[in-house]
Amino acid sequence: MLEVKALSAWYGMHKALDDVSLNVQRGEVVTVLGANGAGKSTLLKALAGLIPVSAEAQINLNGRSVCSLRDFERVEAGVALVPEGRGIFGELTVRENLFMGAYPKRARVGETENLERILSLFPRLSERLSQTARTMSGGEQQMVAIGRALMSSPEVLLLDEPSLGLSPLMVSELFKTLARVCETGVTILMVEQNAKRSLKLSDRGYLIEQGRIVGTGAAQDLLNDESVKKAYLGG
Ligand code: ATP
Repeated sequence: MLEVKALSAWYGMHKALDDVSLNVQRGEVVTVLGANGAGKSTLLKALAGLIPVSAEAQINLNGRSVCSLRDFERVEAGVALVPEGRGIFGELTVRENLFMGAYPKRARVGETENLERILSLFPRLSERLSQTARTMSGGEQQMVAIGRALMSSPEVLLLDEPSLGLSPLMVSELFKTLARVCETGVTILMVEQNAKRSLKLSDRGYLIEQGRIVGTGAAQDLLNDESVKKAYLGG
C-alpha cells in the first residue's frame, strides 16, 4: 500500500534521511525504532509532505506517486500524520477538533458514522465532546489528535511518538486504546520511544540509524533478538 524508495532528506548540509526504502501493507502495523536523532520524525514528516525530499525519492500510496503532492493534498490522498506534540487546537472543543479532521472530500461523506466509530474507540472523548481541548489531560489530548486523524478516513496513519510526555498510567491507557485502533484494521506506521510496547502491537519493524535503515524484521523476531534488545529495547 505505502511504498517508499530512495528517500533522502536534508536540513541544510545535514543529511537526515539517507536512501530510505520501506513498505507498509494494507492493515499492517509497522514500527520504526531508532535512537534520538536517528531520523524517525524526519521520515514521518517527509511522508506527510512537510519537508522537501530528494528528487529520486519515490513515495507511492496504492501504486500512485504522492511525491508531488503538498501536505494538505496528501491528507486528501489518505496520508494522516499525528505529529509529535499532537498539534490539537486548544481553544476548540473536542467535537470541533474531531470535525477539523474530516475536511478531506473523501471523509465528509459518512463523517457522522465515522465519528460514532471513533467515539466507540475513545469512550473518554464521547463524555467530553463539548470540553475545550486545552483543558484536557495530555493523554486525552493525544486521543483527540489520533481521533482527529482517523476522522480523515486515512489509508495510512502516521504516529509520531504518541506516548511522549505522558504519565505511566496514561501511557498504559494509550497503548490499550492503540491496540483497539489496530484491531479495526487501520494501516499504521509508528515511531515510538516505548519500543517494546509498540513492537508488541506491530506486525513488523524497521531499525534506523543516522538516517539509514539498518535492519527490518517481524516484530516478534525483533523483540527476541539479543542485539535489538540491547540497542533499542533497554536490554
Ligand atoms: P527524536 O526521537 O530525538 O525526536 P528522531 O529520530 O525523530 O529523534 P529527527 O527529529 O528526525 O530524529 O532528527 C534527525 C536529525 O536531523 C537530527 O540530527 C536532528 O538534530 C536533525 N534535525 C531535525 N530537525 C531539524 C531542523 N528543523 N533543522 C536542522 N536539523 C534538524
